Amino acid sequence: MTLTNPDQKAPEAATATSPSRALEAPPLMGSHDLEAVDCYACGSSSKTFLTEARDDLGGKPGRFTFHTCDDCGLAYQDPRIPADGIAEWYDDTYIAHRKSSDFGVLTPFYRWVMGKHDRDKRKLVDRFVRLHSTSRVLDIGCAAGTFLEELRKRHGCSGVGVDFKDLSDAPAFEHNRFIQGLFSEAAIEPGSMDLVTMWHYLEHDYDPPATLERCREVLRPGGQMVIEVPRLDSRTARWYGDRWPGLQAPQHTVLFSREQLLRAVERAGFEVETHLSYGAFPPWFYIYAGWRFGQLKGRGFVPRQELGRYLLGQALVSPWLMFARKNNLAMQTVVCRRPA
Ligand SMILES: [Zn+2]
Repeated sequence: MTLTNPDQKAPEAATATSPSRALEAPPLMGSHDLEAVDCYACGSSSKTFLTEARDDLGGKPGRFTFHTCDDCGLAYQDPRIPADGIAEWYDDTYIAHRKSSDFGVLTPFYRWVMGKHDRDKRKLVDRFVRLHSTSRVLDIGCAAGTFLEELRKRHGCSGVGVDFKDLSDAPAFEHNRFIQGLFSEAAIEPGSMDLVTMWHYLEHDYDPPATLERCREVLRPGGQMVIEVPRLDSRTARWYGDRWPGLQAPQHTVLFSREQLLRAVERAGFEVETHLSYGAFPPWFYIYAGWRFGQLKGRGFVPRQELGRYLLGQALVSPWLMFARKNNLAMQTVVCRRPA
């Protein structure tokens, strides 16, 4: 699959399959050089240029390259920002970490939107997972922990959240445990979890196979895992090419097609129960943002300035969005189980 905008010529250096040529990307903000990456899934260094992306969401300078593995087909960002340099791309302006108070008079509306998103995640989980008061749930990339709190209020279950950003003073962690740092280093007892969730986390990970194996370890036999990620073989990816919001460079390290996502969880020892061509995340955001990224051309997306147009557009297309789940618009979810 190619994501390159047909109206744009791929850069000369980037069309070469040699990894050394790919390292000739222009310098980035900050003091960190890029590092070459071999395929996360199979370790091959043989790759073909897929597309070049910019920080369309945040508007910071830099060009980022995605390649497809010649041996297994996984799409991933290469070269990438080293792990010790990526934190500055998740600063206070990063959209998923913004505080509700940043939205001024729109704060109540923002809270309602975020609350609805957590309820939509919980409803999706409830269709496939039976939770009760003794259940233990791990949410990786938990941010302020509001999803865990939604589960606790509904089912009485206890939650553990992991995030590399210190969000321990968020209200949800009065009742749920918070672990700051990398999941790979988090002290979580093997076999202790009934459910692991990752909502838009795995596509940011620096070692997805290791993360998935660790998820299997911390789950009890028969425990379940729910993963939502953007879907590379979706309609919005075809429509928007190098402006597809699912590229989200440089934070997204891996781009999963349906096939690659299923292969990744199966390789880690999970049994796939269900794959959905949608998630809890609203596809309208990708439809709208991809259109705006094409106009803004890397200048950055300011939610407060977009809100009026965003809501108007959503209202206009709402009859069509009712069929969003059938149209493979942007997201995907896999529900899988550690074999008993
Ligand atoms: Zn590979």
